[in-house]
Amino acid sequence: MTDSIEKDGIDPALLLRRTPAPGEVWLVGAGPGDPGLLTLAGWTVLRHATAVLHDRLGCEEILLHVPRETMLVDAGKRHGGGGMTQEEINHRLAELAREGHCVVRLKGGDPFVFGRGWEEVEYLRAAGVPCHAVPGITSAVAGPASFGVPLTHRGSSRGFVVATGHTMEGIPAEESAAALLTHVYLMAVKNLEKITGALLAQGLLPDTPAVLISQASTYQQRSLRATLGTIAARATEEAIPAPAILVAGETAGLAEDPADPSDWILVTASRIPGWFDRAFPGARPLWRPLQRPVFREFVPAELGDAAALVRRSGLLAFHGSHPVRGLLALWGAAGEDLRSLSPRLAAIGAEAARALREAGLRPDIEISAPSMEEVGEQLAPAAAGSIVTAPCGEGTGRSLLGLLPQLGAREVHELPLFHQEPLAPPEPSWEHIRRVLFSSPAGVRRFPQAWPAAPLDSLTAFCLGPATCKAAHAAGFPHVEDVAPLVFP
Ligand code: SAH
Repeated sequence: MTDSIEKDGIDPALLLRRTPAPGEVWLVGAGPGDPGLLTLAGWTVLRHATAVLHDRLGCEEILLHVPRETMLVDAGKRHGGGGMTQEEINHRLAELAREGHCVVRLKGGDPFVFGRGWEEVEYLRAAGVPCHAVPGITSAVAGPASFGVPLTHRGSSRGFVVATGHTMEGIPAEESAAALLTHVYLMAVKNLEKITGALLAQGLLPDTPAVLISQASTYQQRSLRATLGTIAARATEEAIPAPAILVAGETAGLAEDPADPSDWILVTASRIPGWFDRAFPGARPLWRPLQRPVFREFVPAELGDAAALVRRSGLLAFHGSHPVRGLLALWGAAGEDLRSLSPRLAAIGAEAARALREAGLRPDIEISAPSMEEVGEQLAPAAAGSIVTAPCGEGTGRSLLGLLPQLGAREVHELPLFHQEPLAPPEPSWEHIRRVLFSSPAGVRRFPQAWPAAPLDSLTAFCLGPATCKAAHAAGFPHVEDVAPLVFP
C-alpha cells in the first residue's frame, strides 16, 4: 500500500496572510463566473465566512458551494434595476462586521476593476472596520480568453486598454483621454525612461502619481512610489529589480507600503504548524519544507507485527496528525476497522486531536504542553502499568522513549508508519528572511546541511520547546527564541 499524506492539497496557511476573523471584511474577487476561476485564496476565505454579501454577476455558481450555514445577502442588481445602493452596501458591510460576522464581500471578476471595491475599502477603513482583499481574475482578461482572443500577440499588439463604456459623458473629446486612464506597463524596468517619456508625450503631467511594483505577491516584493517625472531616475538609484510593473495615473497615488519583509517567517517543517497564526499573528509563512512525510510501504510480515503490537497496547499516543493517518492506514491494511481499535487514545497537540476526531475517534486524553517533559507528566497517569505505543515517522520518534522512566509504563514502543523523504527546495533569498521557525531538533539539524550558505548570524531561530532551542544553539544560531510561551500561553 502506498499512499501520500499530501493528498489534502494546499495548506490554507500558505494561501492567506492572516486567517479571516470575526469583525473583518474580506473583499474577494469571484472571477468571471466559472467557479473554477475563483482563486484558492478566495475559496479559503469564503469557507471561513459567516456572512457573504454578494453581487450576482460572476458569483451565482460559486454561491452554490458555500457552506449551508453561511448567511447570504444579495446586493446584486436584478434585470430592470433594484438591488442595494452603494451606500446601503457599505453600511451593511460595516454592520455585519460589527455584529461579529466574518464577512466576505464577493464581487464579480476582480474587486478593483470597475467593482467600486475601493469605495468599500475607504468606507470601511474610515469606519474602523479591518478590511482585506483577495484579487480575482478579471473578466477583462478571462472573457476574451474564453473565446480565443489573445490580448497581446507578438507583432500584432503590444498592449491593451481596459476602460468603462459607462461614463463617456465626462470625457471632452478634444482633451487627452490618456490622462483619465490607469496605465499599466509590464516588463517595465529596462526601458522605464522611454516608457515614462512616452506617457508624458501623450499629455500626462509630470506630477502624475506612479508606482513601480517588483516581484509582487512574493516575499521579495517591494515597490517604489514616485511621480511620472521622477520614477525612472529613482528606480535606477534604488535598483528596483525585474520583474516589475509600472502603474501610472491618479490611482497609483493610493499605493500602500508593501509588506514588511520581517513579516515573513521561513518554515522548514513538513507542514505549517496549526498554531502558526496564534504564535505569529499577521505574519506569513514562507514554506520551504526540507522533507516530505510519505507513508511507507508495508510488507506483510511487518504489517502483522505492527498490527499485533497495536492489539497488545493499552494506550496509543499520537504526536501530530501524520501518526494518526499512519495508524488508520495500518489498521485498514490489516483488515480491521475502527470497531476493533481498543487501546485508549492520547492526542499530543491539537493536530493529533483534530485528526482523531476527523476519523470519528474521540481522544481519551488530550495533551497540550510546551516540552516533552511536561507531556510525560500529563501522560503518566494513563500510561502507568500499561503498554504504550506511539505511531511515528521513521527516525523521528525517540522522544517518547526518553520518557520511559517518567511514564511508569510497562513497555513503551515506537511504531514507525511513514518515512520522511528528503526534499531539495529552492533556497530562499536570505536578504529578505529574518526569522526561521523550527518545531523539532531534527529540522534544525537538517537546515545547515540543506542550505550551507544561510547567514545564521542574521537570522533568529524560533524554536518550539527547550530541546529544539538547544539544537539551534548547537547548530550555530546565535539568536534563539522559544516559541512555546506563544503557543501555550
Ligand atoms: N469587477 C468586474 C467587472 C465589473 S463591471 C471584473 O473584474 O470583471 C461589470 C462588467 O464586467 C459587465 O458589464 C461586463 O462588461 C463585464 N463582465 C463581467 N463578467 C463578465 C462575463 N462573464 N462575460 C462578459 N462580460 C463580463
